[in-house]
Amino acid sequence: MENIDKWAFKIILIGPASVGKTSILTRFIQGKFKETYEYTMGVDYLSKDVEFLDPSTNRKNIARLTIWDIGGQERFKFLRNTFYKGANGAIVVFDLTRADTFKEIPEWIYEMEELVGKKIPYVLVGNKTDLLEEVGRIIDEKEIKNFIEKEKCLYIETSAKTGENIEKTFKELCLLMANLKKPEEIEEQIIRDQILQEMEDLLPNNPIEAQGMLIKAFYRKFGKEALPIIKILLNKQGKAIGLKVRNKLKDNRLSVVGEFFTKSWDPKDVKIIELSDNIFRIRGFKCPFGLENTSRELCEAVMEIDKEYFRTAVNDKIDFNIIKTLAAGDEFCETLYSLEHHGKE
Ligand code: GDP
Ligand code: MG
Repeated sequence: MENIDKWAFKIILIGPASVGKTSILTRFIQGKFKETYEYTMGVDYLSKDVEFLDPSTNRKNIARLTIWDIGGQERFKFLRNTFYKGANGAIVVFDLTRADTFKEIPEWIYEMEELVGKKIPYVLVGNKTDLLEEVGRIIDEKEIKNFIEKEKCLYIETSAKTGENIEKTFKELCLLMANLKKPEEIEEQIIRDQILQEMEDLLPNNPIEAQGMLIKAFYRKFGKEALPIIKILLNKQGKAIGLKVRNKLKDNRLSVVGEFFTKSWDPKDVKIIELSDNIFRIRGFKCPFGLENTSRELCEAVMEIDKEYFRTAVNDKIDFNIIKTLAAGDEFCETLYSLEHHGKE
């Protein structure tokens, strides 16, 4: 026999007037959308059963949702006590095409927590994605990002018109209310969504930049744990190139390899500070991997590529020093390769 967990939740739909709360509810319950705007008179609620799976056990859950829709109008303020009382979760909606509706969100959350009497899980919804193509993104995405990072809340963009993400919004809220999704998981999801967003915004100019995007995403997701893996891979990459350079040049003096190395760069991005058979000091003004303002430790891991390149092409006793790096916010990169100590032996 199938074992099903059953729940009953009260959900409230809040946010400024005309952002699409009633439309979201209608879409969710009836699968329909109406173009004409009707004021929501006072408080209405509708019920629907939804099924959702516990992500860790795949166990089936069913929740009977009672969804309360409030009018955004101030004149119904006296009704709000009943409206908020006993709510288990909320969908807080703003309109992606009207910046003022996003500005009002903190007030709505404040009122909700005050009148419910405690913090309850909620999903922040940016509605009317179907209009974005026409209207464009008028709300600064960084502002939204900052808000969700600070509040650690789930953020979903929907369209009541097309139905995009409407089901998902209610199911995600169910997971939060049933406590099957923990705050850490929300954080993870926020990071994942941000990485995806950043990827969407960037167009790599070449394979190295694309590799850099992958490296940054990997580091953001796994932090320090990612570093040894990045190191090993970039080390191998450096060795592979270093071997080719060694075979090609036939002369393994640091001065020769250093000059050859520099030629592979766009001249405006690099400057040789010192070049001899014992020392090679080079500055870079652009990180080929795009690691600007990430961290020194990430730069160190990625620089395994150049370190191993020189160790392979010149001499494995070479000393390698990252003096400055754009990754740590320095004004340029400066790397020093030296054979001095060994030369004196
Ligand atoms: P409420 O005041 O928050 O309940 O907002 P309504 O659901 O009544 O919607 C206000 C207006 O926005 C109506 O004209 C809806 O047709 C329109 N609307 C709601 N959601 C969407 C959407 O996702 N896309 C578009 N294009 N219009 C929407
Ligand atoms: Mg309404």
